[in-house]
Amino acid sequence: MIGEPPALTLEMVQEVNKVIPEKKVRYLMGCGYPEDIIDAVGLGVDLFDCVLPTRNGRTGMAFTSTGKLIIKASRYARDQKPLDEHCRCYTCRNFSRAYLRHLFNSGEALGGRLVSYHNIHFYMKLIKQIQRSIKNKKFSQFARRIKKNFNFRSQD
Ligand SMILES: [Zn+2]
Repeated sequence: MIGEPPALTLEMVQEVNKVIPEKKVRYLMGCGYPEDIIDAVGLGVDLFDCVLPTRNGRTGMAFTSTGKLIIKASRYARDQKPLDEHCRCYTCRNFSRAYLRHLFNSGEALGGRLVSYHNIHFYMKLIKQIQRSIKNKKFSQFARRIKKNFNFRSQD
């Protein structure tokens, strides 16, 4: 579902899931904000694809455990911390916010690639956490807890 308001998308997912057998893979295209993915998983969606992690990464927006981070902001000019202090991806282990900001401000494509790499890692970690919470029958608690930190969509 691309372009509809999130509430309508979720309403449509509920309708479609009435006719798709529960044992079949349920796919939702264009659902990319972490909070929307969690809501869709709660409705039984299994599979997603979306451009957000790389499209936003190329423009300098990082998905982090504490929320959205716009690396081009001047406050990161001397910030030696990684994009996300709770992340162990290649970008976060090797590059500071200040260096990433420098790459963007210099027009270096590497900046977009490194932030995209981090964003994909962030999403992969989120999906693994979702899978684990489902296996442990704690998805509802996980969703409530993690969504408190996620407000990516409304910060656009
Ligand atoms: Zn990272």
